[in-house]
Amino acid sequence: MSLIRHDDPVFDPADADPSVDLGVDFYQYVNGGWIDANPVPPEYSRWAAFEEVRTRNEDLLHRLLTDAAAEPGAPGTPTHWVGRYFAAGMDEAAIASAGLAPIQSLLDQAMAIGSVDDLLAALPAFHQIGAGPVFGASVIPDFDDSSVHLLYLDHGGLGLPERDYYMRDDEASVQLREAYTTYLTNMLGLVDFPDAAGAAHGVLELETALAERSYTNTQARDMDLVLNRRSVAAVVEAAPGLGLRAYLDAIGAGNVTDLNVDNPGFFEVVHAVLSDAAPAALRAYAVTNLLRATASSLPPAFEDEQFRFYGTILGGQQEQKPRWKRVLRAATGEIGELVAQLYVAEAFSEHAKERALALVHHLTAAMETSIRNLDWMTDETKEAALQKLAGFTPKIGYPDVWKDYTGLEFGDGPWIELRMAARRLEYARRIRKLDEPVDPHEWAMAPHEVNAYYHPLRNEIVFPAGILQSPFFDDDADDAVNYGGIGAVIGHEITHGFDDMGSRFDAEGHFRNWWSEHDRAEFERRADVVADQYSEYTVLGELTVNGRLTLGENIADLGGVTIAYAALQDALAETGSEMIGGLTPEQRFFLSNARIWRSVETDEYMRLRVSTDPHSPPEFRCNGVMANLQEFADAFGIPDDAPMMRPVVDRAKIW
Ligand SMILES: [Zn+2]
Repeated sequence: MSLIRHDDPVFDPADADPSVDLGVDFYQYVNGGWIDANPVPPEYSRWAAFEEVRTRNEDLLHRLLTDAAAEPGAPGTPTHWVGRYFAAGMDEAAIASAGLAPIQSLLDQAMAIGSVDDLLAALPAFHQIGAGPVFGASVIPDFDDSSVHLLYLDHGGLGLPERDYYMRDDEASVQLREAYTTYLTNMLGLVDFPDAAGAAHGVLELETALAERSYTNTQARDMDLVLNRRSVAAVVEAAPGLGLRAYLDAIGAGNVTDLNVDNPGFFEVVHAVLSDAAPAALRAYAVTNLLRATASSLPPAFEDEQFRFYGTILGGQQEQKPRWKRVLRAATGEIGELVAQLYVAEAFSEHAKERALALVHHLTAAMETSIRNLDWMTDETKEAALQKLAGFTPKIGYPDVWKDYTGLEFGDGPWIELRMAARRLEYARRIRKLDEPVDPHEWAMAPHEVNAYYHPLRNEIVFPAGILQSPFFDDDADDAVNYGGIGAVIGHEITHGFDDMGSRFDAEGHFRNWWSEHDRAEFERRADVVADQYSEYTVLGELTVNGRLTLGENIADLGGVTIAYAALQDALAETGSEMIGGLTPEQRFFLSNARIWRSVETDEYMRLRVSTDPHSPPEFRCNGVMANLQEFADAFGIPDDAPMMRPVVDRAKIW
């Protein structure tokens, strides 16, 4: 029998599957009807609550972008830039007739590579337009002093999602590498690269050699491995072939004296590794990197081949999204805060901002109580934790000060020229930050995105206007629904400040250990319980969830719901506990939480996700959390030995 009534103001009984026992599979019980009614659309690799909100946001933006393209307005205004960008992106005739001309000089540079040194010398020009051969450079707050910036060199240069794709020798992985080699061959063929098939094999070999020296996904999350401050002189001495000084000069960072190297061993051997490749492989490697970064705005043959491999074979997506959505997505990445200015003017009210901010304050207060009451943490560490919590900066909706796009020139050329202009401006902005203090107003995500983040180096939690929408947040819904939805998301981000990664940074965002050894051991003992729990989960019958890769997110999911539940109890103590639609607030809280994880995905996407995504598959983001919570069992009268529940002795509790 369904608990959800037809007159419920929030929940739709058709979304549930009352034939499932909620004590067996709560996720399926809440979402089974919705899952049956929502096959993955052919132009998606997954369809989830996130996509539902994103689609609504996109529809609104489609109208705004179309209007801006028709009437761009005065130069220097958001509508001008956005309108020009959108019009150019939609102009397929201009894209087709321009052909490769807009990237011809970069292509020539790639085709002229005759040695490793030539390849390394070409990197700055490639990196500035978003191509990523060999490594990348980013500028974020300095982990020793978060008021200033530091340059971070990050190893990379792989065309497949991560290093294990080159290492695994099971049937599916071997086939995927063959498909990847075909993709490389076809791309090289499109620019008449001599012996494209032979060169493609050379690229795969070269990338495999880089992959062998790369971190696994789990290693890449390990702060003890990735934070390595070095003087430029020391890197030059350890990796003389890298040409670091010339690279820094070329990107405009010649006065940098020290930087972070995420994987020192990689940088030390990379010149020797690349030296094993034939010159033709180095050229083909540079060419395919350039084409991968630009294919989405090149003529259809390039765009289609790119989609065939990355969209369909890797992601299981059957059809391209409509062109306007692709242009909008590119705009979000390249001129995101210009697009967002149009969005928030229409889609985000001051009232919604106030209510969301109040939720953040209630969640923060609940986290404070939780820390004070922890039985496993010593008083000294609690003090530091409370200090850290008090230092949190919440950012809601959109930035107080919008990013300055002065200097961005959009001519009348084809779309790719506008895109490269935007990427170069962004790259230059990033490098310029090395000489500037950290800007407290800066956002790392476009405000119309359906996402949220915690930034350990800035000690801030950020909730864009894009996610402050139903079913996450509904200005008209009862508190229980909002605490179970966006409240759990807010709690999730708050606890990131205290998880295996976030807890390594203090209230100012400095990389400093503020835990006693005893408390760290206690935390890790509890974290191990979470890792073991999720490592037992499988999808598609055979794929095991990586409990280590997903540990930080699983702890945040569990902590987020725990804190949000406590905050709801505080709110109910003030407002009183009222039944709605025959449901208690506690029941509505858990139903709302299960609802935000509803999701269907292609098998290909699920495979990709299990090996690369630090978040668990959606059903476990729901059931994995509930399985540990007595409050959940009590809300629905579920016995301790029900399949949904972990045995009481094995239950995880951290916050
Ligand atoms: Zn997270």
